[in-house]
Amino acid sequence: MAIERTLSIIKPDATRRNLTGKIAAKFEEAGLRIVASKRIQLTLAQAQQFYAVHSARPFFGELTEFMASGPVVVQVLEGEGAVLKNREVMGATNPKDAAPGTVRAEFAESVGENSVHGSDAPETAAEEIAFFFSGLELVG
Ligand code: ATP
Ligand code: MG
Repeated sequence: MAIERTLSIIKPDATRRNLTGKIAAKFEEAGLRIVASKRIQLTLAQAQQFYAVHSARPFFGELTEFMASGPVVVQVLEGEGAVLKNREVMGATNPKDAAPGTVRAEFAESVGENSVHGSDAPETAAEEIAFFFSGLELVG
């Protein structure tokens, strides 16, 4: 399988509970390398732009207000099949459905406040990485 990069966001529910290190450890334990990382606070407009694909969904307002409600840690993860591997580490969107040992099973508070975001395909990963990082900030 090819070496890929994917975008991860540690969401405000997790930064609030001081879980950044525990979540990052799960990525590293799975063989993913954190090649870029920064803690930022999104404006509502930036959250709306990032999640524009979900703008017609009933939870769009709730989602974007939540994502702008506190700091997030945006990271680029690199490794073999990184997009899928990260989705495995994250677990299902709804923590009730997430497999034991996944980030969402252990840490998520609800389907909305579910601790992490991960890109869903290599194409969206490239777009999402470019949304937050310049090439100079990616150090493999
Ligand atoms: P993400 O894109 O954040 O990695 P995902 O791909 O598992 O998560 P999506 O279907 O893309 O899930 O939804 C994006 C985000 O919208 C979810 O992570 C969650 O925070 C929120 N969300 C999804 N479904 C609901 C819902 N029914 N109610 C509230 N929020 C939701
Ligand atoms: Mg998604």
